[in-house]
Amino acid sequence: MQPRDLSDHVAYEAGRGIEEVARELGRDPSEFVKLASNENPHGPSPAAAVALRDAASSVSSYPKAAHADLTAAVADRWNVGDEQIWLANGGDGAIDYLHRATLEPGDTVCVPTPGFAYYGMSARYHHGEVREYAIERETDFEQTAETALESYDGDRVVWVTSPHNPTGSTMPLAEIERLADETNDETLLVVDEAYGEFADRDSAVALIEGREGYDARDDIAVLRTFSKAYGLAGVRLGYAVVPEEWSEAYARVNTPFAASELACRAGLAAVDDEEHVERTVETARESREYMRETIDAHVWESEGNFVLVDVGDASAVAEEMQRRGVIVRDCSSFGLPACIRITCGTDEETERAVETLNDVLADLE
Ligand code: PMP
Repeated sequence: MQPRDLSDHVAYEAGRGIEEVARELGRDPSEFVKLASNENPHGPSPAAAVALRDAASSVSSYPKAAHADLTAAVADRWNVGDEQIWLANGGDGAIDYLHRATLEPGDTVCVPTPGFAYYGMSARYHHGEVREYAIERETDFEQTAETALESYDGDRVVWVTSPHNPTGSTMPLAEIERLADETNDETLLVVDEAYGEFADRDSAVALIEGREGYDARDDIAVLRTFSKAYGLAGVRLGYAVVPEEWSEAYARVNTPFAASELACRAGLAAVDDEEHVERTVETARESREYMRETIDAHVWESEGNFVLVDVGDASAVAEEMQRRGVIVRDCSSFGLPACIRITCGTDEETERAVETLNDVLADLE
């Protein structure tokens, strides 16, 4: 007996943690900093950490109240109805739900390349086929409606990542609106705003709701996560904001209890701690500006909590930086073999990353 043919499916390559890297190199974990997975250098809100501890004694029960409370708090934050919030097990879980709610076998999903790998993986799990549109280095990874429309072919779902991972570029709201206008009635446009808090732009929720002079519409969904600005990557909590017309589908695609009691309680405390998010965003902005000013290589402008750097030979540079104690993301697997992605850290971490990178670049010359 064998699993079905999974040869079209690739495994998700998660970045390695400090413990793993230190063990492999036979070194002490305290020698390393990790700026490779766009995590929050300040950790979670202290209130979320307390909520997690307090929730520990109730984990013998299935999640109940926490779900409703968190849904209401998130809906309140966006000024939308509770039924428009699809809580999920991470942003990844929300990606799955949107595909479950849209794809029939053989339907196509159009995804950005370079781009976040899980869109395509999830589409295939849901018996969809994957098509790609290119975000081009030649135009500094600029994203306009045309960027996606050049490849669009009546696809059931089109993914836009804004801010985009791993480049940090964004698609302006007016372009997102134009893209949605130009695609047909059966296409759902999903705007992945996993890094939205770090950007100087309004959320595409304005397009769904018809705010800021836009007309309300039923063909855009927005994805958000607690993994980045909220510092809760480990609890796995994310959500989609959907148009009212999509509300009822949630109950039919939702994995029972996918967002855990622990995740929901931490999320609820985190939403309340606006100061922590503000501090996190401020740190990221300072860090990315500092990196753009001080790195001896081309650094693209970024609206995320990371920057993309042109280092020539990404795998050699990332490996040597790691040997010197700074773990960054080699973007070869994104199809960018000349680039590394560095997460915005604390002042100390960022300074160490820049110094190490500049030394490595000079030594490898
Ligand atoms: N979208 C993008 C663009 C991402 O980079 C990530 C995480 N790396 C996610 C979604 C999913 O994040 P999570 O499942 O941790 O919420």
